[in-house]
Amino acid sequence: MRFNDLTVQQFNGAKPIVCLAVAWRRRIIGAASFLLVFLPIFPGGTRAADNLGVLGDHPRWAVLEKYQQTITHDEFSRLIQNVYCTHGFAPDLIEINEKTARLLMNRAAQTFFTLEFAENDAERRPVPRLWRPAKSLPSAKPEKPLSGLKIALDPGHLGGKWAKMEERWFHVGSSAAVEEGELTLRVSRLLAARLRELGAKVLFVRNSNEPITSKRPDDFRELARKILIKNPATAGQPRADVLDRNDPAKEQTIRWQSEILFYRYSEIRRRAVLVNFKLHPDLVLCLHFNAEGWGDPNNPTLTEADHLHLLVNGSYLAEELELDDERFEMIRRLLSRVYDEELPLADTVAAAMARETGLPPYEYPTTNSTTKVGTSGYVYARNLLATRLYRCPVVYCEPYVMNSNDAFARIQAGDYQGVRAINGVERKSIFREYADSVADGLADFYSKAREL
Ligand SMILES: [Zn+2]
Repeated sequence: MRFNDLTVQQFNGAKPIVCLAVAWRRRIIGAASFLLVFLPIFPGGTRAADNLGVLGDHPRWAVLEKYQQTITHDEFSRLIQNVYCTHGFAPDLIEINEKTARLLMNRAAQTFFTLEFAENDAERRPVPRLWRPAKSLPSAKPEKPLSGLKIALDPGHLGGKWAKMEERWFHVGSSAAVEEGELTLRVSRLLAARLRELGAKVLFVRNSNEPITSKRPDDFRELARKILIKNPATAGQPRADVLDRNDPAKEQTIRWQSEILFYRYSEIRRRAVLVNFKLHPDLVLCLHFNAEGWGDPNNPTLTEADHLHLLVNGSYLAEELELDDERFEMIRRLLSRVYDEELPLADTVAAAMARETGLPPYEYPTTNSTTKVGTSGYVYARNLLATRLYRCPVVYCEPYVMNSNDAFARIQAGDYQGVRAINGVERKSIFREYADSVADGLADFYSKAREL
């Protein structure tokens, strides 16, 4: 399961679990952008605050200078229209002219960045980047299609003692609790072994149930309080702490808001710092399990629905593009041309996962936040924190509905070698099937791209 990050999003109050497969509602934080500001001094002495998302970093627009003349007008327009800004945007944010694009840096200060286009493909300057596309990797043996490749595995969520706080936890009767953060870590360890066999160097963004961030919920109580004061739903007065996690009123408490600032915003932003400044991978795989709304985690609803989809970055909402940091990060991502690598990668991995899991493609109930891309039918563009902030190709996997009858039985069966009958069908362990299908998809993609 995953989340966008424009706002602290919450599940529709009637169904207390966080899950993508059902309607989400954006409520609380638009107000946070007023809180996390600084006052840069612009030429001429004017001062204007940056309009930032939750715990957002101030954009460093000057970094875009190195992308001058690295993209043509047509390619830039195509990526804006078909991938990144499919829901439209205010006209002053991005103005595409014949030879340049004018990018709004700060509306109050009326400052703009001018991006110069390359005249044509032949004149294009090389794109500066730290990650390596498949085609630029050195030659490899056919049995080692991932040799020389640095892959970072990002098991979604935390699990362990944090799983209930993350709302990634449920249990049925006396069966073992299902914790998404625990499941993704098990898959990552199996996948790491497979990828190493194929020649890859594998790094873990997380390899335990402990957070990467050093912050804890108590560190965010003051920010949570400010966010709630700005929120019309709480009328300037946060609710007293509600201890019952099934009570939707919990979302208007300092406790709940400070927890989400910890395990979602702070945690994923720290993972991004690790990826971008220490690990420097050629590819990040974000590994998740999906879910449908399960209601009471102590008495969850199980469902027949089971499905698969993958996500790449794109499909920014108009209101997300209003945030100076998100708009900057979107443009930097576009200019790094990461989409040219991650889309065919995601499509190829999706095809292998579909083949090996037999899962049908997930269809979002609305197109409000996603755009279907690629050719497999399984891949969507969506603006998530991880897919936006990790500065390299990112493939975000969402197979299996954890609270489907089938996946639940397979999770309870645990990991094992070979096959076992589960609900009357001979199946691999769900963890191995997940890991093997991703590894096979990567082997397919890199073998072909490297012409092995
Ligand atoms: Zn997840």
